[in-house]
Amino acid sequence: MAKAKKRRTEPVSLPMLPLRGLMVFPHMVLHFDVGRKKSIAALEQAMMADQKIFLVAQREIDVDDPGIDDIYHVGTIASIKQVLKLPGDNIRVLVEGRNRAILRAVTQEEPYFVGALDMLIPQGTVVSIETDALLRTAHNYFEDYCRTSGRISPETMQSVLEVEDPGQLADLIAANVLQKVEDRQQLLEEFDDLARLEAICAILVRETELAGVEKKVQARVRKQIEQNQKDYYLREQIKAIQTELGDKDATDVEDLRARLEKTPMNDEAREKTARELERLSRMAPGSPEIGVSRTYIEWMLDLPWGRSTPDNLDLKRARRVLAEDHYGLEEVKERVIEYLAVCRIKNNMKGPVLCFVGPPGVGKTSIAKSIARALGRKFVQMSLGGVRDEAEIRGHRRTYIGAIPGRIISSIKQAGTLNPVFLLDEIDKMASDVRGDPASAMLEVLDSAQNNAFRDHYLECPFDLSGVMFITTANSVDTIPRPLLDRMELIEVSGYTEDEKLNIAKRHLLPKQIEEHGLPAKSVKLTDRIMRALIQGYTREAGVRRLQRTIGKVVRKSAVQMIDDELETVTVTQDKLTEYLGAPRYHYEKAGKKPEVGVVNGLAYTVVGGDTLQIETTTMPGTGQLELTGSLGDVMKESARAAKSYVRAHASELGIADDFYKTLDIHIHVPEGAVPKDGPSAGVTMTTALVSALTGIAVRQNVAMTGEITLRGRVLPIGGLKEKLLAAHRAGIDTVLIPKENIKDLEEVPENVLKAITIIPAEIVRTVLETALCEIPTPKKKTERMPDVLPAAGAEKPAGLHA
Ligand code: ADP
Repeated sequence: MAKAKKRRTEPVSLPMLPLRGLMVFPHMVLHFDVGRKKSIAALEQAMMADQKIFLVAQREIDVDDPGIDDIYHVGTIASIKQVLKLPGDNIRVLVEGRNRAILRAVTQEEPYFVGALDMLIPQGTVVSIETDALLRTAHNYFEDYCRTSGRISPETMQSVLEVEDPGQLADLIAANVLQKVEDRQQLLEEFDDLARLEAICAILVRETELAGVEKKVQARVRKQIEQNQKDYYLREQIKAIQTELGDKDATDVEDLRARLEKTPMNDEAREKTARELERLSRMAPGSPEIGVSRTYIEWMLDLPWGRSTPDNLDLKRARRVLAEDHYGLEEVKERVIEYLAVCRIKNNMKGPVLCFVGPPGVGKTSIAKSIARALGRKFVQMSLGGVRDEAEIRGHRRTYIGAIPGRIISSIKQAGTLNPVFLLDEIDKMASDVRGDPASAMLEVLDSAQNNAFRDHYLECPFDLSGVMFITTANSVDTIPRPLLDRMELIEVSGYTEDEKLNIAKRHLLPKQIEEHGLPAKSVKLTDRIMRALIQGYTREAGVRRLQRTIGKVVRKSAVQMIDDELETVTVTQDKLTEYLGAPRYHYEKAGKKPEVGVVNGLAYTVVGGDTLQIETTTMPGTGQLELTGSLGDVMKESARAAKSYVRAHASELGIADDFYKTLDIHIHVPEGAVPKDGPSAGVTMTTALVSALTGIAVRQNVAMTGEITLRGRVLPIGGLKEKLLAAHRAGIDTVLIPKENIKDLEEVPENVLKAITIIPAEIVRTVLETALCEIPTPKKKTERMPDVLPAAGAEKPAGLHA
């Protein structure tokens, strides 16, 4: 039952009408339809009496014949203003609420309810500041509510705002704002006017906020619907126009859209492509941009999203594949197997990037191909040689005319899978200039921490390269940028000995060439002796590229002969070899050459492997000039000067005239002048050549040497010993002088080379001179030394300082 504060009531008895889903407040005018028999009877009774009727809300609207428990016990006494008979038995009635009343008891149930009521008598308002404040607050809140919700007409708002009685105001606001019967009933049951007004204020705040949010949501929804409808409408129009024009592009766009649906791209890529498709669909037919736009979309769709090959990490099989494809290279093969074993244990292929380092033609590329074959992955290759422009790797932005993705992305598309073996050739030959730094782009490609979101300028969205197995090759590690080097595991692949070449030629190169030229297997025959003659006479290289080409030439010539002479097979003889290939280019001079003055065999290590390097020196009367020719680099020039200073300092003990540096011009030349040469390792060679030229003692030509010198005549270690010894072996040298500290490197040198060559370790230049020169230089009788007046060319110091 309702709260009863100190209130005045008056008992009355009135016909009662239960309302369904309705509520009438005092002061409220309302019309509603009445259909239930009991209700109509109550109405009729009221009309016959004083037109007063008690209206009370039903708790549940579904109940047709409510009892006392089905209705609330607080309602409103209303006076009936108008009654209208409707077609059927219904009656429409207009009522105006008067007083709240409490239902004490139901005194009659048939033919209509009669309620015994306590009617509340309004008490009038006590004027106080608090009441005023409350009234003003309620007015403000109501105004806010009207503005925000837009549900109340301005006239209603105005009439509500004019009410100054707190109770009446609360009722009016409740009648306009509250929708649910329960809420309204709650307010009806609050008999205290001020408390009621306060309650409605709280409700107004909440409702205003709700209305605000509601409005925003509605606006959003409306906008979206409008946009969708507009887009749809416009697109349909374009389609219709294009169909009218007989434009087939429209159907193309649909095809592309269908392809996009089926392609498992990442979200960013999908969004980019979808947006471009939108643009494409809206372009006027014949617009030059169509091509650009379509190329982009096709690039995106053609990338191998979601396509990978399963890895075969069977080590036995990998070993077999590597052995099948390559002769020798045992260490390299083992390193590769180890690498795969680690990948298998870790269950991912995210090892460091393998880098095969070695001279050209030693099989670096072909090992990488074998790895792909062993793993069952696709293979792609890209050369970095001479790449200067970052855009070659990362692509051009689409704003450039004719832009396409970089070569990394192009190769991935070509591979057709996300996890190919990707060979990056010649990573040491990348250069950087104003067009950006390709090395830093490569860093992003190779770094497993970043390459899962590689950004190509053209695609403008991340692409996952983390499944790719990158392998790189280089001829030398010196020019590989340091940060790249740190991310790679170096595997050295060195040059071959003659025996190895022979085996490679017999087992791999010849059969491959025969097959490539479409001849029956084994139809061209070369005996070991002839093959060796071919290797010695026509090739001088660390790898087997030239050998492969030369064999190719022999096979072609043999094919011609087979057809000419109607032969099934051809056996190549020495004569035929000369006939096919011309006279041998190289002569294998087995230590046959006579000793010479001023000419010394040096050994060099270049990017194409080891090589012999002859150094010639001659002297002539002059003023002490030192002439250096043969494209020598700075370091090599400095080592020539150091050699000269050494000789000057030790002139007398070597039997050389003390003043040679003033009276003689010296010319050091390193033949094959067009080939640039550099490095400090020719120091001992130049010293020997100088001493020979100045003393006239000849140098043995079966001897070669390598080593850096210090001014005091110590021999310092050098790099690339293995390659140098292989080169000496190829050139038929039988004695090689090496720095003593390089002895440890002999482990890597093939045994047959060590067998064929006498290695003499040297710690001081003296040892070198004594071995290489035909006679040991002896001191001249001591003569008085002239004071050094004029320093000779270069940074030489007066000889006396080094005594
Ligand atoms: P690189 O990449 O080191 O310059 P390649 O891989 O292109 O050299 O090798 C050149 C050719 O020599 C290839 O046809 C390769 O198959 C062949 N080749 C090189 N080394 C061997 C080897 N050890 N066994 C068999 N063939 C080899």
